[in-house]
Amino acid sequence: MNYLIETIGCQMNVCDSDMLVSIFSAYGASKANNLSEADVVILNTCSVRSQAEQKAFSYLGRVKEFKQKNPCIKIVVIGCMAERLGPNIKKRFSSVDLIIGAKDIGNAALKIMNLFRTDYSAKKVNSEIKSKIVRYITIMRGCDNYCSYCAVPFVRGREVSINCETIVNECSSMVKNGAREIILLGQNVNSYQYEDVNFASLIKKTAAIENLERIRFMTNHPKDLSDDLIKIMATEPKVCPHIHIPMQSASDKILKAMNRKYSYEHYLGLIKKLRTAVPDVSVTTDIIVGFPGETDEDFEDTLKAVKTIRFGGLYVFRYSPRPDTKAAEMIDDVPFEEKKRRHAVVLKESNKISIEIVSEMLGSTQQVLAEEIKNGIIKARTKNGRKVFAEGRKEYIGKHINVNIKEAKINSLFGDIV
Ligand code: SF4
Repeated sequence: MNYLIETIGCQMNVCDSDMLVSIFSAYGASKANNLSEADVVILNTCSVRSQAEQKAFSYLGRVKEFKQKNPCIKIVVIGCMAERLGPNIKKRFSSVDLIIGAKDIGNAALKIMNLFRTDYSAKKVNSEIKSKIVRYITIMRGCDNYCSYCAVPFVRGREVSINCETIVNECSSMVKNGAREIILLGQNVNSYQYEDVNFASLIKKTAAIENLERIRFMTNHPKDLSDDLIKIMATEPKVCPHIHIPMQSASDKILKAMNRKYSYEHYLGLIKKLRTAVPDVSVTTDIIVGFPGETDEDFEDTLKAVKTIRFGGLYVFRYSPRPDTKAAEMIDDVPFEEKKRRHAVVLKESNKISIEIVSEMLGSTQQVLAEEIKNGIIKARTKNGRKVFAEGRKEYIGKHINVNIKEAKINSLFGDIV
């Protein structure tokens, strides 16, 4: 079986796609480079925003045309959109052969291989995934928070934390295979709880793995971010000083309508605590503009917070209603043009701050972990999450190197290895 995987959405989807690659590879299936080489194309989908679903539909449109000329190819849709829309996808695209929702992702590999007469005895290892320097691991699935705009609790189900021993064993084996950085993933990692192991203790157990050099995690919910976690970020050298904490809005009225269960004051207090405990921490965030009922004043509160907090980076989204959510019942009263304006204003401010932050790094020497090399250019990352590019050799991959920063752009730094 030759397979092609197209992944849309968050790092959890990337992680699920990697898991499929590992299983397929173990059973002797091969990765195709393009549609023409593939026996099956797997589209791993996202439902968080309508744009992500539109992207999936246009991809299915392209594959449908391909299938008209190549009827043997199988089309499989997996992930959140598959969970949310289920058989309705087939109504729109009869060319789709199999739909596997996010809640059934653990059985996806087997179900896909069952479309073919795969020789299950063939065992190979996938060197491409296994040798990656940075590996992702899902530590929990689902979400219990029911933010009023979000479809995740409906498509991914209730929160389930994965056995901590399984996680630590899996991380150990990744490190044995060459990983140096592990990213712990979950919709809300702060509420990880497996028996008496909470998230801070899971990090402690993971940090004990020999030869593992860096630990990151995402994503966090402000209401669950504990003092224990801040303490471990401050005291465990393997934990990177980078944290993504979605703020969404700085208006308490809007936060309440979003069902976020914290106030802006609480959020700001967390940032202050973090910055006191971990002075070099980079805090990144998500913001939604144009949520139902967001007035000019509410938006100005959010903009003021962006200026006050000076995030290391942010993702800003224009609100769009997601079916089945509470917010979809509210009146979507901010005109599209105004959403676009607010989006542009936040982005402009954030870019200005980012440029100021990275400009301060010009001329400095940064210790980075070299992750991969392409055409002689090494892609590396600082401990607080900035991407750095420098000319280098493949012997550097997996090692810490020092790079003198010569050029700074919003999302990337460029320099020379010293
Ligand atoms: S915390 Fe809120 S936004 Fe995040 S996945 Fe859960 S419901 Fe969605």
